[in-house]
Amino acid sequence: MPSNKSVSDAPIFQFTNCRILRSHQLQREDLWVREGKILNPEKLFFDEKGSADIHLDCKDSIIAPGFIDVQINGGFGVDFSLAADDVQSGISVVSQKILSHGVTSFCPTLVTSPPSVYHKVLPQISIRNGGPHGAGILGAHLEGPFISKEKKGAHPEHYLSTFESGAFQDLLATYRHLDCVRIVTLAPEMKRSSEVIQELTRRGICVSLGHSVANLSQAEEAVRHGATFITHLFNAMLPFHHRDPGIVGLLTSDQIPARRRVFYGMISDGIHTNPAALRIAHRAHPKGLVLVTDAIAGMGLAPGKHTLGQQVIEVDGLNTYIAGTKTLSGSVATMDSCVRHFLEATGCTVETALEAASLHPAQLLGIEHQKGTLNYDNDADFLLLDNSLQVRATYIAGERVWSQDTFTI
Ligand SMILES: [Zn+2]
Repeated sequence: MPSNKSVSDAPIFQFTNCRILRSHQLQREDLWVREGKILNPEKLFFDEKGSADIHLDCKDSIIAPGFIDVQINGGFGVDFSLAADDVQSGISVVSQKILSHGVTSFCPTLVTSPPSVYHKVLPQISIRNGGPHGAGILGAHLEGPFISKEKKGAHPEHYLSTFESGAFQDLLATYRHLDCVRIVTLAPEMKRSSEVIQELTRRGICVSLGHSVANLSQAEEAVRHGATFITHLFNAMLPFHHRDPGIVGLLTSDQIPARRRVFYGMISDGIHTNPAALRIAHRAHPKGLVLVTDAIAGMGLAPGKHTLGQQVIEVDGLNTYIAGTKTLSGSVATMDSCVRHFLEATGCTVETALEAASLHPAQLLGIEHQKGTLNYDNDADFLLLDNSLQVRATYIAGERVWSQDTFTI
């Protein structure tokens, strides 16, 4: 009989023989879980006089919060930007398969598409918790179509749009459905973008700056109006210039409003950003770094031709190009490989590398009281990793949802 009956009949799990990431440190402590939440063992011992029902030997694993990917266009043959009649089943495939890469929640991302695609796809995306069926869905990330022609990257020019006629009404007419939208990437130099940024922020939607030729003062103004994120720093923006560092300058700007932090996404796959640039960003603003995969349908598949919305993409190793060009277009990197590459390229601590894929994206989305940490009462979404940060097992709400064949506890 459970020993904690006074509070709950649910079994208490004690994960032992592990180092857990808490308060920015790997600590040799046990992890306690009940009813899908992280439990405070002191309260259990002293207030409830309770103890664990089930002990699990983690074989000296690191336990870290589950990874959160806020920019992922698809994977495993699924492209979220293709207006299929059954978007749900595509999302289900990806959400199931990314569990082996340590991702426990994510933002399905749509690249610039014609309005008809948004009208068809967005109503089919619903925010939901993760579980054995797959990683949780935190809401959609819409990258474009309100971006710069000069920095369109892999986005089809034909469908780019502006705010000139009706500002927020233009955005609403394009997307139509905002209920499931969590992040919008836009170019802040566009006319009337301030109004749009303010309205999105007022609605609790995170505004990210990207695919843009904005100078620093335009970027700072966007931050003053509510923007909090930079989409894949360095890629698809003006290169750093010492007299006008552009969006990159936000990392060391002294014009950020008090108590605000600007976060920035990094595709740490060894292709999109030179390791020296990754180090510059990390050393300048370590607490804002958010690892993203920007993965496309080709992730998890053999090299060859895949799609990204309306474009055909050629995948060759870790390189992804719009077919027939040298324009980079998303990645085929997995989140766990990005974490390992970031660790290796920057020489940062294991804690820092893990937090860039968990704590920081949770802070960006304002959900750090639920996800992204192993703090008491948070969702028990976590990973068991070996010392080289290979994922051994993935848990969502305290339940094991994936594990290596050779790893049993
Ligand atoms: Zn992009």
